[in-house]
Amino acid sequence: MTGDGNLLPLLLLFALVLILAIALAGQMRQRNALRDWLAAPELHAIPDGSGAWREIFSRLQALRKKERKQHLELGNALERFRLAAEALPDGVILLDGHMHIEWLNAAACRHFAFDPARDIGTLAGQLIRQSEFQNLMSAYRAAPVQRSTLLRVGANGSERALSVMLLPFADTGTLLVSTDVTERVRTEVIHRDFIANVSHELRTPLTVMTGFLEQFTAPEPPQGEAARSFHRLMAEQAERMNRLVADLLTLSRLENSDQPPRDETVDIPALLEGLRTEALALSGGKHTIEIAAAAAGKLRGSADELRSAFGNLVFNAVRYTPPGGTISLAWRRVDGAPVFSVTDTGIGIPTEHIPRLTERFYRIDKGRSTASGGTGLGLAIVKHVLARHGGLLKIESVPGKGSTFSARFPADRQL
Ligand code: ADP
Repeated sequence: MTGDGNLLPLLLLFALVLILAIALAGQMRQRNALRDWLAAPELHAIPDGSGAWREIFSRLQALRKKERKQHLELGNALERFRLAAEALPDGVILLDGHMHIEWLNAAACRHFAFDPARDIGTLAGQLIRQSEFQNLMSAYRAAPVQRSTLLRVGANGSERALSVMLLPFADTGTLLVSTDVTERVRTEVIHRDFIANVSHELRTPLTVMTGFLEQFTAPEPPQGEAARSFHRLMAEQAERMNRLVADLLTLSRLENSDQPPRDETVDIPALLEGLRTEALALSGGKHTIEIAAAAAGKLRGSADELRSAFGNLVFNAVRYTPPGGTISLAWRRVDGAPVFSVTDTGIGIPTEHIPRLTERFYRIDKGRSTASGGTGLGLAIVKHVLARHGGLLKIESVPGKGSTFSARFPADRQL
């Protein structure tokens, strides 16, 4: 009896230990299954659990499903973006912080004859050797803001014109966008040639007409008031046409020139004196025309082109300033750069017109411009001359008070 009585607690203890061992083994199995799954989720299915593990596993299952779905959606979205970038007619190249090619689309491969397998990882500047692109890269490195240039690519009858733009992207990256503008450039050339040819062809008949008109006044003016008035009108209009043709020819010469401007040494204070004398003649003594500042200094450039540009600004000031007004010419250094400026106390320009003034034939008031002898081409000529000399035109104006036109040149043009 006593022996049996002692055995029972032992049996109970043994049974308890056995149950605990089985439970622990079960927990270990679940834990190992979870560990294996976490180590390589793509190789193992989420384990089936029991008890509290079932809850954990089913939550993990739900999370996994959601993650898979998001992954798939992200993949689809990325693929759509990639396809969209591939379908773009413009070339797109992603460049890293050192300007190595990271990625490019099909159009970029076509434009530059690139091969992704060969060219990804190469410096863009090593593959695009044209000097225009090298200059664009230097300017962009100095100040990384959106910049563009025109490039000619290809050879032997398959030349294309590309407009190439660099712009900052993400933190340190750069986006290169290329657009094929061959057709546009071709049309512009046809357009420019047409204007140059028409202007040239008009010159001879105009010279003949002007010559005959002069004959009418010699040895004495036409008889009768009406005849004199007709003659005066014809002479005025012929003179206007002569100015128009001359300006058109100047503009098309500037536009068609691939050559940089001549490298002459232009004495600007002397040029200002000459312009002041001409402006006084145009004004007929109705304005005060002064030279407000004439710092010593010469400018490197084309004397003819600079005289034409500065002259247009000075004569405009006379034409758009009512009698009694003042016109001041100045030649100074501003922040180290040489600046020519003309200030008038004339009619001024409403702000909204200022950005368009350098377009050909853009006029605020057509009647007034024609009456004052304008051709509508003066500021377009100024813009081209300045661009050829690396200069910039700035226009400031207050309607009813007056305007200041300033031409700023790069410091290295001052001699
Ligand atoms: P235009 O021959 O008509 O003067 P421009 O190209 O020289 O042609 O000038 C374009 C327009 O800009 C002019 O029609 C005129 O309205 C305006 N403009 C130019 N200079 C001045 C000025 N100093 N003051 C006021 N308006 C001006």
